[in-house]
This record gives sequence, structure tokens and C-alpha cells, in this order.
Amino acid sequence: MSSIRRHAITLIPGDGVGPEVALATQRILDAAAARAGVAFDWEEAEAGASVFLKGDQTGVPQATRDSIDRTRVALKGPLETPVGFGEKSANVTLRKLFETYANVRPARELPGIPSRYKGEGVDMIIVRENIEDLYGGIEHLQAHDVAQALKIITRKGSEKVIRFAYEMALREGRKKVTTASKANILKLTEGLFKSIGEQLAPEYAPIQANHLIIDNVAHQMVKDPAQFDVIVATNLHGDIISDLASGLIGGLGFASSANYGDGVAIFEAVHGSAPKYAGKNVINPTALVLSAAMMLRHIGELDLADQVEDAVLVTLEDGKSIPQDVVRQQGGDIEAAASTTGFTDAVIENLGRKPTSVPTAASRPRPAAPNPHKRWPDGEARRAEVGPATVIGVDIFAETLMPPAEFGTKLAALAGPEFELRIVSARGTVVWPKMSPAFDHPGFFRSRFVARDKSKVVTDEALFALIARVAGVATWFHLEKLRSWNGEEGFTRAQGE
Ligand code: NAP
Repeated sequence: MSSIRRHAITLIPGDGVGPEVALATQRILDAAAARAGVAFDWEEAEAGASVFLKGDQTGVPQATRDSIDRTRVALKGPLETPVGFGEKSANVTLRKLFETYANVRPARELPGIPSRYKGEGVDMIIVRENIEDLYGGIEHLQAHDVAQALKIITRKGSEKVIRFAYEMALREGRKKVTTASKANILKLTEGLFKSIGEQLAPEYAPIQANHLIIDNVAHQMVKDPAQFDVIVATNLHGDIISDLASGLIGGLGFASSANYGDGVAIFEAVHGSAPKYAGKNVINPTALVLSAAMMLRHIGELDLADQVEDAVLVTLEDGKSIPQDVVRQQGGDIEAAASTTGFTDAVIENLGRKPTSVPTAASRPRPAAPNPHKRWPDGEARRAEVGPATVIGVDIFAETLMPPAEFGTKLAALAGPEFELRIVSARGTVVWPKMSPAFDHPGFFRSRFVARDKSKVVTDEALFALIARVAGVATWFHLEKLRSWNGEEGFTRAQGE
């Protein structure tokens, strides 16, 4: 009987430079595996541009979904997404289909790679929430030339990723978790994320916990990046600061990442399809190779992961094969740079060697495969704890070019005995009953009606009748019920309300 350990892995080569970096990674992994009595059963699968071209608007065909369902592990090259128009990102679709809620992006100083922070010991992991936030992609043109995107943050989604960050920190011997948010401005969405971070921190007491406003995180990352250990953030902020982090350690050519769910994990480079380099055999494959090392740890092949990571470190350290992006940063002779295949050959030759100028992979804490918590909040119990919602009014968004004073006066007269018009606002700032002198008409207003008698239940019938009266004055396009839980308002006040 064969003693070879076999692993089935879905391989998505992807678009642009994807097939080149995927092939490089596959060759390195197969070479390392052959030395260690391991074999990979690669299931090659399609996603991205080629799939869109065939008319599948999801970008992720059923065969690819089925393969990942089977293998539970995917190694993925970058996928192209049309910018500003067209199909949704197949990357985001994949992350959502398999609920890979934690996107982990390490940024560690590498030997031989120039950066402004060389020698400062940059070694951080960014954990980005991967499903929610503006990546819901729920957008509408509310009025002519007025676009809106919904930012969705849930307690459950936030708790999952924040717990993941703390548990990863414990497993990997990390000391500090920084929760990053914009809770000063977005009190309910980012505020929820921040408060969950604060609630969970004491459960992970050995880990030092702090919170920073995301703009300060950006500032601190550029000023003193070595202060950071693990940072956990909502989706868009995490996306931006993780690209920033990759710039601290030599660029996107070195930035690896993993998307973890409770069942499936997808490993990919942070970079995109870099179309201008596609097919030229010049792209640096390190980012995907280091992502594959994360994958090997995830499937329990810890020694193999160390071997691959060490071979990359040795190759970078001895400087004989320098990828083109590094040569360009150093202002060196581009002709002398290693090709994608040349760099890959060098890494394969270096399998089994250990770096000398930086700690070996095995000397770092060895994380077991992620074992995310299943203690997600129970929806029913939470609903019982919070109690029922009370409807106290409605925000009606309507298109109009009427001056605010005229619009407010008209609507106030329509409020009827059940409601009062509390404010009219434009882009979140009160314009009725008071108006800022620098008011610039955006072509739409929000009118906030609240119940006159706080002790009475606001019925849908009363709301519908109010909306019908407002519709006689302006074209409404969006409604938001105003609700409270135990007297706590479930909406923010306008600037100046
Ligand atoms: P990109 O493909 O990441 O390329 C931006 C620049 O980063 C490149 O021009 C190059 O910089 C550098 N770069 C990227 N990968 C590199 C590597 N392996 N080695 C060295 N340098 C590298 O970003 P983009 O041009 O904004 O996006 C192109 C497409 O990729 C878009 O369709 C986008 O939606 C998609 N994308 C996909 C993913 C994903 O699949 N996860 C992620 C991001 C973007 P220089 O020009 O300075 O050489």
C-alpha cells in the first residue's frame, strides 16, 4: 500500500498573469511534495474573464463550485473584473458563495527585498471581514445623478471575523489585536464592529487589545509600521490597509492572502491580473507561492509549508534570482532580472535549504489548521434579549428642486395629526427648519417624520397614508422606517438635528 499522503486541491489559474503564477506555484509545490511523500491531485477549474466571455454572468461556473465543494480548498490566480460597469467581481462571488468570512493578509519584512522600512521588523497580519460592508454591492441610482451604496454590518459577521482574528493571534503566538474602525463617523455600522471588538477582547485576555480609528491606522502604518501585530477591520478598510501593508514590505509581488470560512478556504495573491505583464514571463510569482504555503499549513502539511517558505526566503536572500519588480525598485538592469520561470527554478533548487539572515519558517510559532469557533450568536436568543422593535416614524427620500424652506413648510402641513415633520436634510445635514448659509441643492431631500404621540403604535396604514400625501408634492424614491429597541433609536441623527 502506498504511504503517499494525497490532497485534492482546486486550482483556478485565473486571468492575465494568473496562469503563469499558478503554474509556478504548482511546480514548486509538486517538487516539494515529491521530496516529502506527498502528492496533490489538482482539479483545474475556471473562473473570471473566460467564463464571462462564455455568457455566464456569475464568472464562477457550476463545475468550479462543485470542485471546491469536493476539495474544500482552492488555490486561485487573480480574476479580472470590469471596472465601473459590467459583471460583478468573480472573486467576491467566490468568497461569498463559500462564506469565507475572514481574509487574512500577512505583511512581513523579507530578506533581500528593498523597502523604506527595512530593518524595522515589520511583521503584521491584517484580518479583513470578507463578506459584508459595501461589498454587498447593493447600489442604486436614487435620483438622476445621485448614487447610493448600502453598507451592511451585522453583529454575527463582525463577531465571526473578530473572534477569528483573536483565535488566529493565539494560535500564531501574536501579542496584540488592533480593531480598526470609522466608528467616530459611522456610529451604527462601524460602531457595531468597534463595540463587538470591545465586548470580545476580555475573552482573549492574554492578547493585548486596542482600537484605532482607521485613518489613524493608515497614518501609523506609514509612520511606525512595526507597532502593529494583528489588525482586524471591516471589508473596505481592510482591503485598503492591506494593500498599504504590502507596500511596506516590497509591493504586491510579495503579498499573500487566504480566505477562510468554516468549511472552505481559498488561497490567492493580493495582486490582480496585471494585464500588461500577461504572457511575458516576467511577473513575480512569490505572492501566490507564499499564499500556497498558508494553504499547506491549512491542510496540515506544516513541514512542507516550512520547506516552501524557506526555499523562497533563501532565493530572495542569496539574490541570484531577483524578480523584475524588485530590480525595478532597485533601479537595476531589467535585462538581468529573473524571469517567472527562472525564479521558480531557483526556488525549486533551494528546496531543503534554510535562510540564514532571517528566522526559518519552523522557528516561528506553528499554527495548526484554523479551527474557527462555532459559538456564533444564536439569532433567536438575541432577538429575545433585544425585544421587539417599535416603529416611531419614517424617513422619506424624495426628488425635488424646491428650496428647502418651501419644501419643509409644505411637508410640515401634510404631516397630519399623527406625525410631525422633525427635519428635512440634504446629504445628512439639516436644511429645514434651519439651513446652513452655504447650502448647495443636491436635487433630493430626506424628510424625517416622527409620531406626535410617543405612546401610540405607528401603523403601516398611517405610514402609507403619509407617503401618499408626500407623493403629491415630490417624487419619493426611498423609505426607511425609523425603529427603536428598548427606547434606543435604531438610526442616526442628521448633522444639526
Ligand atoms: P494589479 O493587477 O494588482 O496590478 C497593479 C500593479 O501592481 C501592476 O501594474 C504592477 O505594478 C503591480 N503588480 C501586481 N502584481 C504583481 C506581481 N505579481 N509582481 C510584481 N508586481 C505586481 O491591479 P489592477 O491593475 O488594478 O487590476 C487588474 C485586474 O485585476 C482588474 O480587473 C482587477 O479587478 C483585478 N484584480 C483581481 C484581484 C483578485 O483576483 N484577487 C485583486 C486585485 C485586482 P507596476 O505597474 O508598478 O509594475
